[in-house]
Amino acid sequence: MTYSVTNTAANTPGGARFNRDIGAQYCQQTLAAATSFIWNIFQQNFPADRKNVPKVSMFVDETAGVAYTNSNTIHVSARYIQGYSGDVRREIIGVLYHEATHVWQWNANNGAPGGLIEGIADYVRLKAGLGLSHWVKLNVFICSYLLKSMFVT
Ligand SMILES: [Zn+2]
Repeated sequence: MTYSVTNTAANTPGGARFNRDIGAQYCQQTLAAATSFIWNIFQQNFPADRKNVPKVSMFVDETAGVAYTNSNTIHVSARYIQGYSGDVRREIIGVLYHEATHVWQWNANNGAPGGLIEGIADYVRLKAGLGLSHWVKLNVFICSYLLKSMFVT
């Protein structure tokens, strides 16, 4: 497996922040770690179980949105990096676990519903300990709601 990281937006504020606060080398290591983690979760223990992907490429681009994945190429938005307030490195690592899942997951020949595809990618991110803070709040909300319904009704 090889992993490459290219910052095509280095001359923009977001691209500069990527180089300063995250770094291509760190993302390369993260992609390798995420790949092993995903193979493990998917129980793809042997190459025959996996998609035939020899290389994962990541680009930091001056695009809208957060990130998207096309086949084995992950695009992360420099604008999103620029605008993110908080621990941007942790956030982008979480985004990479989500996007790397899209590289490796099977989609039933495009038959799998989008919600399932995204849910699996978020599940991997959560299992990696990189969940979003509002997911925790949501869980607390659901739990207290359940508690209420158990005791009130
Ligand atoms: Zn996704």
